[in-house]
Order: sequence, then C-alpha cells, then structure tokens
Amino acid sequence: MEKGELRLYNTLTRNVETFRPFNPKKVKIYTCGPTVYSMPHIGNFAAYVYWDLLVRILKMNGYVPYRVLNLTDVGHLTSDGDEGEDKLEKGARKTGKSVWEVAEYYIDQFQKDFKKLNLVQPQVWARATDYIEEDEKLVDALTSQGYTYETKDGIYYDTSRFAKYAEFARLDLDGIKAGARVKFSQEKHNPSDFAVWKFIQPGENHTMRWDYLGRPGYPGWHLECSSIIHAELGETIDIHTGGIDHISVHHTNEIAQSEAAFEKELAKYWLHCHHLMVNGEKISKSLGNGYTLKDLAKQGYSALDYKMWVLQGHYQSERDFNLEGLEAARVRRLGWRNRVARCYQDQEDEVPIEVMEDLQAAFNDNLNSPKAFAIIDSCHQDSLVFWRWVDDVLGLGLIRGRKLPENVQQILQDRQVARDQKDYAKSDYLRDELMKYSYTVLDTKAGQVWQYLR
Ligand SMILES: [Zn+2]
Repeated sequence: MEKGELRLYNTLTRNVETFRPFNPKKVKIYTCGPTVYSMPHIGNFAAYVYWDLLVRILKMNGYVPYRVLNLTDVGHLTSDGDEGEDKLEKGARKTGKSVWEVAEYYIDQFQKDFKKLNLVQPQVWARATDYIEEDEKLVDALTSQGYTYETKDGIYYDTSRFAKYAEFARLDLDGIKAGARVKFSQEKHNPSDFAVWKFIQPGENHTMRWDYLGRPGYPGWHLECSSIIHAELGETIDIHTGGIDHISVHHTNEIAQSEAAFEKELAKYWLHCHHLMVNGEKISKSLGNGYTLKDLAKQGYSALDYKMWVLQGHYQSERDFNLEGLEAARVRRLGWRNRVARCYQDQEDEVPIEVMEDLQAAFNDNLNSPKAFAIIDSCHQDSLVFWRWVDDVLGLGLIRGRKLPENVQQILQDRQVARDQKDYAKSDYLRDELMKYSYTVLDTKAGQVWQYLR
C-alpha cells in the first residue's frame, strides 16, 4: 500500500479499492439519514459514528468532503412492501401532534444527539418535504421514458425495464418471484416493483399531501434520495453510505431511479455498515432494548463514551452492545484522556512520528479503527501534538485544554503546601475535596500530577 493511499470496501464491486475522487477539493458524499418519527436509538447512531470517521479520515488525507444527509419526514411506510401507514402520520396519531410538529421535534432531537456525539456537521441537511418539486420532475422523467405504470394506489417503477436491477444487490429475481406471496401481484407487475408516488385515497388520513397529476399524493420513500442527490450533488457522486439493510431494496431502488432518469452512474463508491445488536438481540420496539443516548446518560455514560465503544469495532462487523462493554470503553477513553492530562503537565513534547504513520495506515486500510485503537494503546510516547492529531481523526473529545477550573487549581496549590509541610491529613482531605470536582491527584517523584476521575 502506498503511503497516504485510502482504501475502501466498495459494495458495488465487492472489493477493497483505492479511493480516487473526482475532485479532491470537493468529495461528494451522501448519507441516508433517519426517518424522524421517534427518538433515535443507539443503533441508529452507530452508522453516523462510522460515517463521521470516514469524513474525518478523508480530511486526514487532505480531501475536502462535501456531504449531504437527508431527513425523511414523509413517505416512509411501516411496511417495506409499499403498504401500511406513513411512519410520520402514525407518530402524529399516537402523540396527538401534527405531522409537521412530530418532524420538527425529532429533527431537533436527532441534531442535538448528533452534536453530543461530536459528529462533523454535513454541509447540507436535506429535508425530504423540501424536494417535492424535484420528486415530481423525477417521476415525470421516469414516466416519459416508460419506466413507470399506474395502479389504483400509486405510480410504480417497473423494475423489469431496468436491465441492471438485480446487479447491485446480486438479487435472484426469479427466486423472489417464485417465493413472493400471491398478494403482491394483484396490481404490481413484478414483486420487486416499488412506488415512486402514492395516491391518497378518498377518506384516507394523510396530512402531508401534494397535488400531482390532478390528485393528492406523496412521494415514495426511495424517491427522495435520488431527488436530493441530483439537486444537491449533481450526477455521479463519490461516496454513498448507508446500512447493509439498505442494499437489497432502498439502494437498489435509488440506483434504478437515478440511473434510468439521468443516464449516469449514481455513485462511484458504496459503503455499508453492519447492524448493531443489543445483548445478543436485534433492537426492536417490543423488546424495549433501543437505548437512547439519554438512557445511557442516566446510567452515567456520555455520548462520547458510546462513540468510543462504536469506534472500537470495525464498521463492517456486526456489533453486540451491552453495558459491560460500554463500561470498558468508558474506562479506556478515560485512560486516553489522562494520558492527555499528563501531556498538559509534562515539559517535553516528543512526537511519535512512526506511530502516527502506522495509525494513518490503519485508518486508510478501510477505516480500520480497532487496529488504530490497539496502536494507540501500545504507544508510550505521548505528546500533545500526537493527541491533537488523534482527536482530529476520532472526535472523541480527548482535548479539553490544559487550564483547570480555578477551584481545582486552588485545591492543588493548597495540597502542595500541605505536603511541603508534611501535613498528610490535610493533604488526604484535599484529595477527597478534589474528587468532588471529578479530579484526582497522583504523587510522583516529580510532584503532584492531576488526573480526570471521569
Ligand atoms: Zn437513501
């Protein structure tokens, strides 16, 4: 591997490839975002932590990322088969609020958590309902090229018209056809066909509605990503990210829409992260195991402790979350922060250049954060330059500034005086005082060394 060469696993080719952007000064990235109808849980956020690492590693390599993240506030149905209720409408019905209020509230919650996790802000937050005109144009384009047909409940994409349809997810369409339940075929031509636009039936309760083709309706869920990418990033972006559960339907459909309408490849590199389990089980409403960051905070864990836990694993591996693992991550992060604290108090700054090169190679090796973490643990040549560099790539809030709160400084000074006077009772008392502010102190040959307690 050449130095400074970033290699990424590309789902499109099922290979690890050298990353070569169209324009290093504007690397176009699209991340499929949340459906904003309920409180995001830690499983949702694992993906955004991995893509934060991607963005930071791109920066480490001198690239300038330009990223769009969408917020789905319409059209995502409770069933993947283009049936069921719109998740936003359901959220509104349950809470007695309007759909717009529900969207507003959960967008705010999501963005607050995003900040707590110290995730690099995307250049564009794209809200699905702001792109309805683009959606309609896209459906027009597909229809004029013969890719759609109309049923009672909407406009559907005829996947048999798009020759490459099965390619991206390596789908076995004949198998899907054979295995499909009879129910699907009533109006759909093929089981894999999907709604690009849904009509609102008379009497149907759907607040978000737009007139298109002379009747009220709303866009299909997959459509917004194709529209937003085209509107905000243009044709053929560098990197498209999402979860592995997006591969077989959502991303396959995005490709079918965009590439049929615009006749250009949608994205050059596709990155997918694996699921998060909790205590060995899938996160589900019925199990009530979808911890939120607030739940973790109540147990004494910060969002950054959780981020530490996520980055300890590789984005392509299935992860199993539990509180013991989170505790270990918290302790590990505290250890790193205290190494930084020692750097604040030491005179000499020795920069471990070779270690930084090894770290760069690990990060560039398909975002191998677990390997990078092991290198950091085994490095004993600390310096502030080193830790600032590490924290730029990880965003773990390791650097806080060397200035201590004034009361903490005062206690340390008083304690030094007590020790000089050999008043050990007072010195011990002052150590306990320090703990109240979440600091402690070690007595070394070189004198007092303060440490973070949490
Ligand atoms: Zn998407």
